[in-house]
Amino acid sequence: MSGTEERPAARTTTAGAVTVRVPAKVNVQLAVGGARPDGFHDLANVFLAVSLYDEVTATPAAELTVTCEGPDADKVPLDRTNLAARAAELLAARHGLSPDVHLHIAKDIPVAGGMAGGSADGAGALLACDALWGLNSSRAELLDICAELGSDVPFSLVGGAALGVGRGERLTELPVSGAFHWVFAVADGGLSTPAVYGEFDRLNDGVDVPEPVASPALLEALRTGDATALAATLTNDLQPAAVSLRPSLSATLEAGTAAGALAALVSGSGPTTAFLVKDAEAAEAVAAALTASGTCRTARAATSPAPGATVLP
Ligand code: ATP
Repeated sequence: MSGTEERPAARTTTAGAVTVRVPAKVNVQLAVGGARPDGFHDLANVFLAVSLYDEVTATPAAELTVTCEGPDADKVPLDRTNLAARAAELLAARHGLSPDVHLHIAKDIPVAGGMAGGSADGAGALLACDALWGLNSSRAELLDICAELGSDVPFSLVGGAALGVGRGERLTELPVSGAFHWVFAVADGGLSTPAVYGEFDRLNDGVDVPEPVASPALLEALRTGDATALAATLTNDLQPAAVSLRPSLSATLEAGTAAGALAALVSGSGPTTAFLVKDAEAAEAVAAALTASGTCRTARAATSPAPGATVLP
């Protein structure tokens, strides 16, 4: 699928293969403004990277190819619509190279789950190809390509915690203390992010939606590592739309709350649901209760903040 035969092949480093690990995210605040004339929404989006990871391995190849392994692998496109493939193409085009690379995705982040798995693979492929081709792009150059790939991709590169404004892609890194413990309930099937925004617009038709603003109390809870304070400030303006499209999410949210979670919310555009818990022990108990409730496909414990895209040794 190269289509760029006139370009020289990239020189590769002696490594031969580069693997990058990239985290999933949860939005601890997702404040959504009204639809803009261009159809997008202004956001105040507080991202937190969590310790569920995809790994993207880049290997020299005759042309651009993508493979994927993992429980959701059959739902991942392997053509050039895959964000990992698009990242390789964009990076190569900027350097006048042909994107002759094989990208293998070991996928552990739920697909179409509201945890930015595709964005993670885009950021991972970008960093892996940059290293494989010995380009040494600056962080600013990489972030620029990430923003072109999608609103959530810059955060996948950066990790940690960050406030995204605009469409969510203009990032300011945020200080976080300690570790927060989470359980993620993975639903059967995905939800399309555009469909959830469409439902948000439908539910807010005729409503004067306020300007999205980051919550000072939430930013303070992150800074001080106070899980109880964070639980009291978690919000997701897309939650009513996600629950409207997938009413069964209410039962999952209730099951996690009944099992002792400090707070429960839909992750991003869903349908994954996120449960903030006190510690690792509580995470185990809530994950077991969620699995036993039969209201989700599986439940996974994770911690945050997690580092952004990282080249593995
Ligand atoms: P977000 O939280 O950023 O809204 P998401 O987690 O809900 O995203 P993704 O897993 O990123 O959803 O997938 C959304 C769609 O993107 C998929 O249904 C798939 O068609 C497409 N896609 C493109 N590249 C990938 C990829 N590498 N992995 C998964 N899906 C991909």
